[in-house]
Amino acid sequence: MTTASTATETSATSGPETADVVVVGAGFSGLYALYRLRKLNLKVVCFEAGDGVGGTWYWNRYPGARVDIESMQYSYSFDDDLQQEWRWPEYFSPQADLEGYANHVADRFGLREQIRFNARVNRLRWDEQAGRWHVSTERGDHVVARYIVAASGALDATNIPDFPGLDSFRGEWHHTSQWPKEKVSFAGKRVGLIGTGSTGLQATTEIGKTAGHLYVFQRTPAYSLPANNRPLPADYEREWKEHYADRRAEMSRNFALGYLPVQQYGSVFDYSPEERTRILEQAWAQRNGLLFLRTFTDTMMSLEANEVVAEFIRGKIREIVKDPEVAELLCPKTYPVGTKRICMDTGYFETFNRPNVTLVDVRSNPITEITPTGLRTTAGEYDLDLLILATGFDAVTGSLTRMNVTGVGGTDLREKWAERPTNFLGFMVAGFPNLFMIHGPGSPGVLAQMITGGEWQVDWAADVIQDLDRNGYASIDTTDAAEQGWAAEMAEMAAKTLYQHANSWYVGANIPGKPRYFMIYIGGFDQYKRRCGEQVSKGYEGFVLTKDKRRTA
Ligand SMILES: Cc1cc2nc3c(=O)[nH]c(=O)nc-3n(C[C@H](O)[C@H](O)[C@H](O)COP(=O)(O)OP(=O)(O)OC[C@H]3O[C@@H](n4cnc5c(N)ncnc54)[C@H](O)[C@@H]3O)c2cc1C
Repeated sequence: MTTASTATETSATSGPETADVVVVGAGFSGLYALYRLRKLNLKVVCFEAGDGVGGTWYWNRYPGARVDIESMQYSYSFDDDLQQEWRWPEYFSPQADLEGYANHVADRFGLREQIRFNARVNRLRWDEQAGRWHVSTERGDHVVARYIVAASGALDATNIPDFPGLDSFRGEWHHTSQWPKEKVSFAGKRVGLIGTGSTGLQATTEIGKTAGHLYVFQRTPAYSLPANNRPLPADYEREWKEHYADRRAEMSRNFALGYLPVQQYGSVFDYSPEERTRILEQAWAQRNGLLFLRTFTDTMMSLEANEVVAEFIRGKIREIVKDPEVAELLCPKTYPVGTKRICMDTGYFETFNRPNVTLVDVRSNPITEITPTGLRTTAGEYDLDLLILATGFDAVTGSLTRMNVTGVGGTDLREKWAERPTNFLGFMVAGFPNLFMIHGPGSPGVLAQMITGGEWQVDWAADVIQDLDRNGYASIDTTDAAEQGWAAEMAEMAAKTLYQHANSWYVGANIPGKPRYFMIYIGGFDQYKRRCGEQVSKGYEGFVLTKDKRRTA
């Protein structure tokens, strides 16, 4: 427990600035929160750690960074003029286009003036007496607010593993999520890349094209599907824009907030092995990435069905990669397809046919240390000029726990979440009143399309704030019992899926000491919305609303 005030809080002489709402983060969720809350005539201040907008697409500027959901879908729905005017050059946008889009939105809707950049929130303290949040930043801001909208990102808190000797490395090194704005050259350099998740795959494919030599250090191979990315044809765009309202409505009713105009073929086992192969071949050639996994209805529900699809993908890897030993190393065999973040690529496996690219198996021969001149495994040493960590994030909870949040009675959020990140509806944590999480644990977050998912969550939080204000309430909290009920509901659904068969970041397995807990609501966004709506319509069941004494006195 801690109740100490920070220096920035106590040093203010003229009294701290006040606001109705502080939004943390100016990614897609935070930007929309600014737009939406401003419509309620609330005073809103946004703190953003970076010096620009876009969140994920501001930070992750590594070579090859690209979204895995079609941009006609992975874009805002709140303003029809915006979605009609904006042009996406490709099916799946690269980082630069997404960052450009975020900047366009910030300017078009005049959101920039409410954002304080280079202002990382390092303390959030609930003052029980006053019923207010005290928000402090590393650079010394101090704002007192009624509400917090924590849009700090599910994939924002960089994970730098504790490699012995990293500080001693004399070459250049970068984490993919803190990639410099200046161009990084790989030509003629010996480059080491650690990590073969989604980011590692994208970076490998791009860096392999120009590196003097690229060593890819792989612990766990990934399933990756062909993106089939290409320039967006004008007639495809026109067709989408003509039907945007209907498509968005259909997406909002979908499990993962996606538009899925594809045939599903029923169970894998409704077909003979030859028929399955024919169907999967067709899907591999024609479907954009993630849709491939939707070919059969039971791929994510039955281990046997999943294995049929997984083996088909392994067959593709063996076909593409010429060296059979390398191909075998690249074949995932220890977890079902789709239970770790599925990857999409444009030539990843082909990269290992290049003479300047070497795959290093660090499952059998782990990395022991980074040396001043490279990297050492239990099997040997690799001299490197440049080292890239594609080692991901302290996902879903990391950006929240890193903010030093203390609630009622000075309870620290890290202590509260020591065993698991309890919450209700993925929005609120008991003992942390008036703090709304966006894409937090307990929400569908990273298993749905996150721009319109964020819009929906922000709308929900904004509606609640408006409702409380109208009805003379000062605060909203939830209860331990409601949290337990939500955890049980989540666990029951997760148990029916295959996700428990993988050591993924969905369960915190990539962070030493992090509790193993499936953090995502897996019932689908459609059901999630219904559940959130139900709780409100039942008179905020599971919540504790406190009257504003000043208004009722
Ligand atoms: C490489 C990569 C690929 C992805 N691909 C997809 C995809 O294909 N489809 C999909 O739906 N999603 C994808 N995502 C997830 C992506 O994060 C979301 O789609 C979306 O961008 C989330 O927006 P957000 O605003 O909620 O969070 P973010 O974009 O993460 O923004 C959070 C912001 O909060 C700021 N912040 C955090 N902590 C603090 C603090 N203490 N003080 C001040 N500011 C703070 C950060 O600087 C950041 O700008 C991907 C993520 C990554 C990393």
